Amino acid sequence: MSSGPTPAVLSFEDARHVVERHAAGVRPQAVETVDLLAGAGRVLAERILADRDFPPFDRATRDGYAVRAAELAEVPARLEVVGEVKAGDWPEPGTCSVGRGQAAGIMTGAPLPPGADAVVMVEQTSLLGNQSPLLGNRSIEVRRGVSPGENFVPRGAEALAGQMLLDRGRRLDHAGIAIAASVGKSQVQVFRKPRVAVLSTGDEVVEIDATPGPAQIRNSNSYALAAQVQAAGGEPVRLGIAPDERSRLRQLIEEGLGCDLLLLTGGVSMGKYDLVEEVLGELKAEFYFTGALIQPGRPVVFGSCGKKYFFGLPGNPVSTMVTFELFARPMIEALAGMTPQRMVFLRARLKSEIRTKTGLKRFLPAVLVGEFENAEVELARWQGSGDIAALARANGYVVVPPERERIEVGEWVSVLSR
Ligand code: AMP
Ligand code: MG
Repeated sequence: MSSGPTPAVLSFEDARHVVERHAAGVRPQAVETVDLLAGAGRVLAERILADRDFPPFDRATRDGYAVRAAELAEVPARLEVVGEVKAGDWPEPGTCSVGRGQAAGIMTGAPLPPGADAVVMVEQTSLLGNQSPLLGNRSIEVRRGVSPGENFVPRGAEALAGQMLLDRGRRLDHAGIAIAASVGKSQVQVFRKPRVAVLSTGDEVVEIDATPGPAQIRNSNSYALAAQVQAAGGEPVRLGIAPDERSRLRQLIEEGLGCDLLLLTGGVSMGKYDLVEEVLGELKAEFYFTGALIQPGRPVVFGSCGKKYFFGLPGNPVSTMVTFELFARPMIEALAGMTPQRMVFLRARLKSEIRTKTGLKRFLPAVLVGEFENAEVELARWQGSGDIAALARANGYVVVPPERERIEVGEWVSVLSR
């Protein structure tokens, strides 16, 4: 009879912590160098340091006039304009410096000329007298005083040369790409993507280019999971479909254990043909949990075999996708070299009442509408965890705490976004 593991069903929080503890112990495999833009979405394997001060000079943040703030103690004040600094100009002390009674025109992004300690906005000034540019020196009247340091960012205020701007383990988004570009990194070192095996199980499952028989379904889970693996920073390796039969299932599981992580879908429930745990047991797998008090996805399994981790995700498509996000994602991120990430939840007001039974933490497909403070959410109408059409209409999951039987219209709820 069954040689499966002793069941261990944990709360969602405990199960997630178990995964996080194991994830904290894994190391990414290798480092590769890629062109900067190919690094978008990849995990940095090096620290990015400031190659010079940021900003590299006192940088004006307004169009206006560079002045000595002390000269504007009484306004209106009249100042002589001794020059102009455009973005890209370098004001040499000999050619453009601001002395007593003087000002220099300055544009946003330009360096503050020597002698000046503030910028007064052009809107607070007027040109005086005959303004023909051929007449050389001009004068302005300044209507408002400024404090020293106003309207420019001092050299090095954002970062000093040598300071770390991005740490190892950071996934490069567009802001990270901007930082790398700004210090002149045309190539970056990133961690190799972990190879994640995806194995579907079930006699009823056929490949997507096959014509399913009347009782068969196409293998959508492998594709959904492969897409989720990619989004999490892994390289999916689809192993196809294992039948509900021990020897072929075992062979494919062993093949999958050759990757950095193995994801199985289906075959982890209590049915007579749910063989995944038994076969893993034969392979001397260690099980950390064999269920979590969640819906969908209660039968989710997490363990290791040899040096490799695996997840057994329930076969119902919505359960597969939800349990991936809740449990497999943090492990893939860790294998990809990422520093651990917190789960991010949105908050929205409930549009129509939810009634459930207590005991399970629920992640129910939901439609989030409205913007800013008007965010509202309601459950997608669904036919249970096989309903991919409902999931495709949804854009998130409402989180229902296990002790809540009823959530009223207008209550704020947490939403896991997708
Ligand atoms: P199981 O977890 O093996 O009991 O599977 C539960 C249900 O999920 C099955 O009856 C199928 O309808 C569905 N299912 C299982 N595997 C897949 C798959 N690879 N792709 C799509 N649906 C699946
Ligand atoms: Mg099955």
